[in-house]
Amino acid sequence: MTLHQRPSLQSVPAYKQGKPAAAGASKLSSNESPHSPLPSVLDAISEGLGTIHRYPSIAAPQLTAELAALHQVDPQHITLGAGSVEVAAQLIHAVAAEGDEVMYAWRSFEAYPSLVRIAGATPVEVPLDADSKHDLPAMLAAVTEKTRLIFICNPNNPTGTVVEAKALEDFIAAVPRDVLIVIDEAYVHFDRSAVRADGVELFKNNPNVAVLHTFSKAYGLAGLRIGYAISPLEVAENLRKVAIPFGVSDLAQRAAVASLHAADELSVRINEVVAQRERMYEALEVAGYPVVKSQANFVWINAGDDTLDIEAKLADGGVVVRAFPGDGLRISSGSELDVDRVIAALASVREGAQA
Ligand SMILES: *Cc1c(COP(=O)(O)O)cnc(C)c1O
Repeated sequence: MTLHQRPSLQSVPAYKQGKPAAAGASKLSSNESPHSPLPSVLDAISEGLGTIHRYPSIAAPQLTAELAALHQVDPQHITLGAGSVEVAAQLIHAVAAEGDEVMYAWRSFEAYPSLVRIAGATPVEVPLDADSKHDLPAMLAAVTEKTRLIFICNPNNPTGTVVEAKALEDFIAAVPRDVLIVIDEAYVHFDRSAVRADGVELFKNNPNVAVLHTFSKAYGLAGLRIGYAISPLEVAENLRKVAIPFGVSDLAQRAAVASLHAADELSVRINEVVAQRERMYEALEVAGYPVVKSQANFVWINAGDDTLDIEAKLADGGVVVRAFPGDGLRISSGSELDVDRVIAALASVREGAQA
């Protein structure tokens, strides 16, 4: 006898985590911060340790108030989750059910396809254009009466490309007002392009736009699981219903507040990550790799059939990255030493490959 289970889950792969790295190797597979936690953040967490026998506050009043002030929005628009990946799941559950469509570019964030299928909805994947960017005209053409949600990952994971302001404004204006557009800004702090659409502004100017932010990347709190949405009030109300109760720990809330208070220190670190990203990009471009200009904390190599070879060379050089066989590799921007290793490992690949 086999158990009754949901047949639709057969098409859902388990989430594939970035590979772990051996001791001493450079773990550049998950877009984490290369910096260890700030002392002020560790202090804030320590202060909360004495009350971990209590449930956290679901409303998270202090963090919510500080985020509302930061973004100049009413606190009612802000909802939290155990990482923004949980908030992305909440957004799907809030607006889409069996038979409804959820659209996103592909390739984009690995979690989207699974989250959509788990919700019972139908994923609609629109290929990136030849520049590894969102193909907004194609996405617009793919909207149907069943479309309920459109993710715009900006900058895009894993290609690092941005959707420009004017193009996204026009897209939003053309999409039916009853379709929710979610701008996933996990990497927004690393963008130096000045052309990217500002998600929070778009939220303020449109009734059907939500923004997704995380403390995992620029703020270095990946291990504590905390992210948030800024969404229209009717959506935010439903996000609070579908959220798993007590999903966001008190320690995560405290660390997030402390991080907001340490914005200056964090921005120095973010600038370092950006500088290393640029160094890595330039070195790989000079070496002849098909690298894509990135505004996130990683660089994408459009490696196609060379993907696994390049991954192996990097592994030999003590670097663990995220490889998508047949498609390309994403290398997170790490410390200076990490990027030195990437450059050393890949310089030798090209010599071999071009012989
Ligand atoms: C990393 C990432 C997230 C969220 O990560 P959490 O740790 O769950 O906050 C969301 N969206 C994209 C595109 C990401 O790359």
